[in-house]
Amino acid sequence: MINIDEDLCKGCHLCVYICYRNVYDIASKPNKKGVLLPYPKDEKECTKCGDCELICPDQAIDLDIETHWWVNEKDSKFNPNFSKKEAQNG
Ligand code: SF4
Ligand code: SF4
Repeated sequence: MINIDEDLCKGCHLCVYICYRNVYDIASKPNKKGVLLPYPKDEKECTKCGDCELICPDQAIDLDIETHWWVNEKDSKFNPNFSKKEAQNG
């Protein structure tokens, strides 16, 4: 599953332009930071070549987030999504 971390993405859209399968599209409205976020409009076309993940200057893309051990770890300093979940759960 492709995951784009909204807090890390700055909207440069390199991922959109590099994808040779046209997986991504760009949101029509900016988020609260004023960023037009990319999103996977056609994820079934993704071949997991890894180019988008590699080119992202902010490491905002994770192609296999559900398979990473730290997603389920309670004590992770590396996964911003985990930190967000922690913050939301108090
Ligand atoms: S390359 Fe990274 S920072 Fe740039 S738009 Fe894509 S996800 Fe966002
Ligand atoms: S992994 Fe490759 S095919 Fe999949 S979205 Fe990224 S650039 Fe496109």
